[in-house]
Amino acid sequence: MKAAYIDGHGGNEVVHVGERPLPERTHGDVRLRLHAATLNRVDLYMRDSGAGITHRLPQIMGVDGAGVVDAVADDETQLAPGQRVLLHPGVACGRCEFCLRGDDVLCTRYQILGEHIDGTFAQYVSVPARNVVPLPGGWSFAEGAALGVNHLTAWRMLTTQAQLKAWETVLIFGIGGGVSLAGLQIAKALGARTLVTSRHAGKLERARALGADHGIDSSREDVAKAALAATGGRGVDVVLENVGEAAWPHALKSLVRGGRLVTCGATSGDQPGADLRRLFIRQLKVLGSTMGTVAELHQLLAFCQRHDVRPVIEQSFALDDVHAALSRLESSEQFGKIALTID
Ligand code: ZN
Repeated sequence: MKAAYIDGHGGNEVVHVGERPLPERTHGDVRLRLHAATLNRVDLYMRDSGAGITHRLPQIMGVDGAGVVDAVADDETQLAPGQRVLLHPGVACGRCEFCLRGDDVLCTRYQILGEHIDGTFAQYVSVPARNVVPLPGGWSFAEGAALGVNHLTAWRMLTTQAQLKAWETVLIFGIGGGVSLAGLQIAKALGARTLVTSRHAGKLERARALGADHGIDSSREDVAKAALAATGGRGVDVVLENVGEAAWPHALKSLVRGGRLVTCGATSGDQPGADLRRLFIRQLKVLGSTMGTVAELHQLLAFCQRHDVRPVIEQSFALDDVHAALSRLESSEQFGKIALTID
């Protein structure tokens, strides 16, 4: 089968499009014929170094994906060949303390497609049946693929972790990136007031068109001061950020007393000052989050269908053009997801 894979670490020169063995469907697995995947920051991380993530080279890239069911076990009762589906990219052991209590995202033997094992920039992938869910009617494969990482991550951050309420205000850093944009869509649909930041006036404009209540241009404005001004000096209830070091001091200063900061990603660095005095005097809560459980993916799908929330796909590339797609992601110019279509 055709796939995009890395055979080393570096730049686009270690990324190849070529033949890889067709994955065997093992016991309990479903094999999918993939039709789309979308790019995530972690694809660049795996290409560049993959440091700290156990994996073997060559490895097929790609974390999320959607397509049709290709092959199932004889006794499979819920999925049938030809069915349009999307996948949850985290393969959990099902046996550890965390899996047993339903927190499969904390699994001690968690394997994520495209990180620990072969991924989705390929014609076929084989995953456990529990990781496969039906694609909503009318959705494109790219929209379905995007749901499995960015929207799932934002969903867990805002609902399970930060417990965002309809009457609250949330500040979202770096609008345009996949998780931030998903966070905006979900927060709006939940009924919350949304403040968003970007260094690009054009992205703020597009965020307003998607329903953002207030845009903060972080290239010209002090984000914390602007967030306080926009809330009558009170501060926001929740901050969602995946920028890390560059956003951290502004994020903490933007919060109301007792406010919650939920973080993932740390793209600008992961060692900001802790500002402990502010943390304890104002009794702030800092919450880490990554990905989401299979149960949360089912909740998210129901929520998206009820509120007509769909991932924003900015641009699609053919699998053969994976280098151009990766370069586009690296430029950070995009607003929404960059998709790969797989013929
Ligand atoms: Zn486990």
